[in-house]
Amino acid sequence: MFTRPHQAGFLLENFMKVHGPYDCADGRKRMQIIRDDGSKTSKSYAKFLYEQKYGEIPDGMEVDHINDDYTDDRIDNLQVISKLDNIMKSVKPAPMTDCICPECNKEFKREARVIRHKQGKRKNAGPFCSKKCSGRRNQRIQAGLC
Ligand SMILES: [Zn+2]
Repeated sequence: MFTRPHQAGFLLENFMKVHGPYDCADGRKRMQIIRDDGSKTSKSYAKFLYEQKYGEIPDGMEVDHINDDYTDDRIDNLQVISKLDNIMKSVKPAPMTDCICPECNKEFKREARVIRHKQGKRKNAGPFCSKKCSGRRNQRIQAGLC
């Protein structure tokens, strides 16, 4: 538990007491903050630590774990980046699989998870290289040709 810091120029939002850090279900830690007016709020432990050292984080910016380990709240592992950059950082490219279109024999790449989903359902389910090939195959299936 922390109490209000006394040092002049110590930049923190007004608070009376800070409790924590508390472990959250996802492995992150959070701090509970009780403001001067008695209202409660919470913020990530990472953000709390960063603000303790460097001051308040501007709107639209977030504290990011550089090594992507959300449990690693060492100050050296924290950086401030924009919300958008944080989202982009968390988006990993989907693993791709080489495929051969059963309709035109063209080689193409498709997200692996899409193919797993389709496999085993139906012999003619594809994946096809394009909507055009998929459509052609469907027309022949409907015409009873395959
Ligand atoms: Zn094709």
